[in-house]
Amino acid sequence: MDVFEKCYRYTDAKEAVRRGYYPYFTPISSTDGTEVVIRGHRLIMIGSNNYLGLTTHPKVKEAAEEALRKYGTGCTGSRFLNGTLDIHEKLEEALADFVGKEAALVFSTGYQTNLGTISSLLGRGDYVIVDKADHASIIDGCILSKAEMRRYRHNDMESLKKVLEGLPDDGGRLVVVDGVFSMEGDLADLPGIVELAKDYGCRVMVDDAHGLGVMGPGGRGTCAHLGVSEDVDLIMGTFSKSFASIGGFIAGEADVIGYIKHHARSLIFSASMPPASVATVYAALQVIKEEPERIENLWRITRKMHEGYKSLGFDIGPSQTPIIPIIIGDRERTFMMWKELFREGVFVNPAIPPAVPPGRALLRTSYMATHTEEQMDRVLETMEKVGRKVGVLGREV
Ligand code: PMP
Repeated sequence: MDVFEKCYRYTDAKEAVRRGYYPYFTPISSTDGTEVVIRGHRLIMIGSNNYLGLTTHPKVKEAAEEALRKYGTGCTGSRFLNGTLDIHEKLEEALADFVGKEAALVFSTGYQTNLGTISSLLGRGDYVIVDKADHASIIDGCILSKAEMRRYRHNDMESLKKVLEGLPDDGGRLVVVDGVFSMEGDLADLPGIVELAKDYGCRVMVDDAHGLGVMGPGGRGTCAHLGVSEDVDLIMGTFSKSFASIGGFIAGEADVIGYIKHHARSLIFSASMPPASVATVYAALQVIKEEPERIENLWRITRKMHEGYKSLGFDIGPSQTPIIPIIIGDRERTFMMWKELFREGVFVNPAIPPAVPPGRALLRTSYMATHTEEQMDRVLETMEKVGRKVGVLGREV
């Protein structure tokens, strides 16, 4: 059987394009963060992870340009060999300090960070315990590690307790959980998790991709917000969200980070973050400290949208953050609503199973410190109009 056979038979994407319901890989030709232009059509962007709007901040762009001029365009090698710059190390120190850990290690993507961290710490005979709503990069890290993976019901401490009770006595144990769940914007019950982890002799790792720069004092993340930074052994973050770049890091005890540094294959066998990206993240960290009003703006906009959607009658699930899902349930209607919103100038992301549980298709929306009240009023008006048109909201009588 030809391995390409399935490719020739795969017509879903082509069919969706033909019917005008294909929402993926849309080429943006211009953006200021809050608005984008796609095929000549201007849209308000409520589908990014650019929470603080730093991708266009003058100081951040200046830092990237300066690093580009000083170090060139790329490192052409792994951190392990020729690809470590002095600014990688400077960034690691700043990140460790930011999240309150002894040491940090920078990878080229958040995905690689989870892959490398989980697969280097765990092996056959160990146990890794994950929430059913954890990000795909955590699951892939678990699969790669060859540890036995046990899943508990989403944010359900009784279910986690049962899983922990059922573990054999042998082998190491690590709980890995998102701090902010990426689809529905709810927070992990970290106080509950660290307590159970202590009782059952587990280490805890938190993926705070969507919490850093957003949650907690000074944007120090979900662990700081919930007062559990000391009890969480490893804090992971990405730079593809509030930090306005690409890359990721893991922070924890110096000995543990030192071990990961010498064993994580996704670090050792992949080229390091390019200089402009490193400088971007360092500058973003400075701006987060110098301009706390950005986080305040983000939360003002977030509160406005939480209240706006609720008063219109949308189901926004358990969201507690700037990630606000519009839960629709039905996949066809989700695509219909996406298409109408696109036509009306609002960019959102449809999420269908397996990215979300069956029957819980949704539009993922997310907000930025730099969104204006006027833009958000337009979004709410458009959502109401489209919601009624496609029958997600009750039709006008
Ligand atoms: N963890 C979570 C929770 C994420 O949402 C993402 C990205 N969507 C990642 C990890 C991977 O990060 P990156 O984009 O930096 O590879």
